[in-house]
Amino acid sequence: MPTKRDYYEILGAKRSASKDELKDAYRTLALKYHPDRNKDPGAEEKFKEISEAYAVLSDDEKRQTYDQYGHAGFDQRYSQEDIFRGANFEDIFREFGFNFGGGHVDDLFFSSFFGSPFGGGRRSTRGADLRYDVHISLEDAAKGITKEISFKRNRACEHCSGSGAEPGSRISTCQKCGGSGQVRSTRRLGAFGSFSSVATCNACAGNGRKPDKECKECRGSGAQIYTEKLTVDIPAGVDTGSQLRLAGMGERGPSSPGDLYVFISVQDHHLFKRDGEDVYLETPISFSQAALGAEIEVPTLSGKAKLKIPAGTQTGTLLRMRGEGMPRVHGRGKGDQIIQIIVRTPANLSEKQKKLLSELGDTPKKGFFDTMFG
Ligand SMILES: [Zn+2]
Ligand SMILES: [Zn+2]
Repeated sequence: MPTKRDYYEILGAKRSASKDELKDAYRTLALKYHPDRNKDPGAEEKFKEISEAYAVLSDDEKRQTYDQYGHAGFDQRYSQEDIFRGANFEDIFREFGFNFGGGHVDDLFFSSFFGSPFGGGRRSTRGADLRYDVHISLEDAAKGITKEISFKRNRACEHCSGSGAEPGSRISTCQKCGGSGQVRSTRRLGAFGSFSSVATCNACAGNGRKPDKECKECRGSGAQIYTEKLTVDIPAGVDTGSQLRLAGMGERGPSSPGDLYVFISVQDHHLFKRDGEDVYLETPISFSQAALGAEIEVPTLSGKAKLKIPAGTQTGTLLRMRGEGMPRVHGRGKGDQIIQIIVRTPANLSEKQKKLLSELGDTPKKGFFDTMFG
């Protein structure tokens, strides 16, 4: 398969382009390459290419998926027919003066290029992906955690093993479509002439074969909704926005199931503030500890640790405790814990304390503040 060009590049638009900018870019190119106006060989291909790019980028959800996953990930999630479903070409073409005879552009005009959205085109064969949200504490994110999750999904019926036939009943060729799974019909459409479209046979749901007796559990659909229970290992170091993919745990599809994406969000902590791999902790110390230096105990993500406060420490000083932060997801080791010192100035002093303090002036003697305020 040839490499697909970038959708933004095709439209000559920036990645940050607004909806209006994309529309203008598409309109300009569509006027140039529309097969009704441009008879050059290759114009039709070009027109398909720009139309596909615009269909994706003009849809917020599709654009986001494309931005995030690129062509490979996008094509896994959307089939060709999905791309054009809901795309609003009608407005743009009406501005060009093309007449669509009141039909919907996406299911008639584009069906002549890309096949009908009802079965003639390339079909999506994977089931839908599912999303499950997990909220964990910062401590759990630091050490990793195993979570039990429970969710509902559509998968092969256990009673009939997905065949749709009641066990013991025969499966034979569908009478309506003669086994092709498709029904062809021809429709006329104004200036565009007639369009032949192929629809999925509704009697056999496109399978071409039907059970003589439908499964009583799933009524012949071959699928049922089940509640699944899974154990998910969340690795140490995850952050809000981290995703885990559980292949094949999504919804059932014609050929293979989709995936389950576990979206992680890490809750705010009442003491620690996270910044990537580092964590910040505001730590109040007494006036005497700040002036004379001290060794104190501070909480860490894994318990507690000793910290040396140098003599003469000021409020706002940052002290780094190496390797006490979050584990690195990529690479080894851990970030740091950074202590933000806040010096508590003594308040509500007695007359005697005030007198001693003013006598002391700017030259404290070692031991004085420890006994007075420590
Ligand atoms: Zn069944
Ligand atoms: Zn049929």
